[in-house]
Amino acid sequence: MEDVFKEQQIFFDFIINELKNKKISHAYLIETYDYDNIDNLVTELLKFLLCSDKLNDYSHECKICHLIDKKEYPDIKYIRPDGSSIKKEQLLSLMDEFKNKSMYNNKQIYVIEDATKLNQSSANTMLKFLEEPEENIIAILIANNRYKVIDTILSRCQVISLQKNDKCEESEEINELLNIICDNNKNFLDLDKLMEIIPDRLNALDKLKQAEKLLFNRINNKYLNLTSAQIISIISIIETVIERLEFNVNYKLMIDYMLISVLEVTKQ
Ligand SMILES: [Zn+2]
Repeated sequence: MEDVFKEQQIFFDFIINELKNKKISHAYLIETYDYDNIDNLVTELLKFLLCSDKLNDYSHECKICHLIDKKEYPDIKYIRPDGSSIKKEQLLSLMDEFKNKSMYNNKQIYVIEDATKLNQSSANTMLKFLEEPEENIIAILIANNRYKVIDTILSRCQVISLQKNDKCEESEEINELLNIICDNNKNFLDLDKLMEIIPDRLNALDKLKQAEKLLFNRINNKYLNLTSAQIISIISIIETVIERLEFNVNYKLMIDYMLISVLEVTKQ
């Protein structure tokens, strides 16, 4: 448990400050960047939100805390994707359950475990919940990256980003790959170098996935003079290419398609 506090100190400082100032939001989106200890982090967050003693002593444990640990606290509902998406029906049944007052006369909290899996129809259902928030209901949404969450939901959440994991080192090769893809409007597009890094479909699948992650981390930073919007567009192009490469499409054509599409974005 201590690890979570150490690794994500800024996150907990922020939450504790909010609680002390009694200005808790109705909806938080935790942007995880694939932080691997997210389950523990959410559990500790829930304790802070539901157990007032926790504020004075991080290591405090009581009956309530214990129930939260075991995921048996009755006023917390966890929503996981049902198959490939979160279904509208899951949210409707949650709303139904939350019509009953809290068992402990305390907050009612729902945790959306992968908010990137909200589709248009479940997002619309959830919007009703977010637009007319009940006093004591809090939503906690978890997503590896905020830009993968449907806009209308994202705009109603307070986003808290976790600190990035240092273990995810930037490899020089992937960095170079990304530079070639994003900077291909120069006359010296280095196609040979590109083909050296990703000589075939399987190589491309693996390395483009890494490149996409790397690019996510650069959305809000200066990278090749690209705007955040341009970077997001390039990410979605790379995503499309990855999706198509999963099938046995003509590999060279796909790479051409990627370079041309990115060029259209970057010369805007
Ligand atoms: Zn407690």
